[in-house]
Amino acid sequence: MKAIVKYAHGKGKVELRDVPKPSPGPDEVLIEVKAAGICGSDLHIFDGDIKLPVRPPVIMGHEFSGIIAEVGSSVTKWKPGDRVTSETSIHTCGECLPCKTGNYNVCAEKRLIGYWFDGAFAKYCVAPSKLIHKLPDNVSFLAGALCEPLACCVNGVVEKTRIDPGDVVVIAGPGPIGLLSTQIAKSQGAYVILCGLPHDEKRLKLGKTLGADMIINVEEEDPWRIVSEITGGSGADVFIECSGSPNAARMGLQVVRRMGQYTQIGLFGKTFSIDFDLVAYKELKVRGSLGQRWTSWNIAVKMLSRGLVKAEPLISDVLPLHEWKIGFEKFRRKEAVKVILKPE
Ligand SMILES: [Zn+2]
Ligand SMILES: [Zn+2]
Repeated sequence: MKAIVKYAHGKGKVELRDVPKPSPGPDEVLIEVKAAGICGSDLHIFDGDIKLPVRPPVIMGHEFSGIIAEVGSSVTKWKPGDRVTSETSIHTCGECLPCKTGNYNVCAEKRLIGYWFDGAFAKYCVAPSKLIHKLPDNVSFLAGALCEPLACCVNGVVEKTRIDPGDVVVIAGPGPIGLLSTQIAKSQGAYVILCGLPHDEKRLKLGKTLGADMIINVEEEDPWRIVSEITGGSGADVFIECSGSPNAARMGLQVVRRMGQYTQIGLFGKTFSIDFDLVAYKELKVRGSLGQRWTSWNIAVKMLSRGLVKAEPLISDVLPLHEWKIGFEKFRRKEAVKVILKPE
């Protein structure tokens, strides 16, 4: 079968290759991939600058949906034909405090599909049956491929942050993570202000159609002035950083109210200076959020099924697998919001 393989460490070193079709181990299922999303971290794997462990040669792709084609000898819960999506933490140690408390997304031994284990940029992939989630009948394969980023947002916005109805929530970064987080915050009754840069204009507009109450181009308008006006000078109840930009983080500490919440989902990929005294002066609750775990997936799938989050409007491009380079480039240049690859 054809697969997109990261075949060595370093920059680039990715190509479409012919590889053998995998077969499932006793506790695994073989999934025929129907849709697989290109993620920002795939660009980092391509560039060779991702901080999570990668083991080339490895088939990339960790956001996907499909149909079970075959089940391993010990699998009883699933059968061929089931429509599914899969969690990504294929290996975790099971022994550390995060693992023992169900927070295996922060296990130091975590190894991911599409990074360490062969992923979904191929016609077939295998996954452990315990990590599979059923795709409800009313959730398309395209939307199903966004379960993974949605679960990441559920972890950050629902599980790590408390949003009360009527809260003013400022979200920085109108990429897929910001657009999904916007919809989650709206479903919780928040007043959502989505912030971006001039080149985000299309994405900001999409955010507006997906429910953001207000969109701000931070180079043209002063976010603090607007937030201050809306909140009577107190500041936003919640700030959610989805852009990985130092300026957005600085803005967050400024616009969030005293005793408010700051949640970090984006990754900066570098160190930078920030006035962290504000955390003390304002008694902020600062939380980090990394990836997702079973509980996040459980909520994410339900949100899609009940129409609380719309994933398909985020999909700007659907390409056959062999056009992966076009997809990567469009996503890198931010011409695309979410690119889906379809194995042929
Ligand atoms: Zn991803
Ligand atoms: Zn562990």
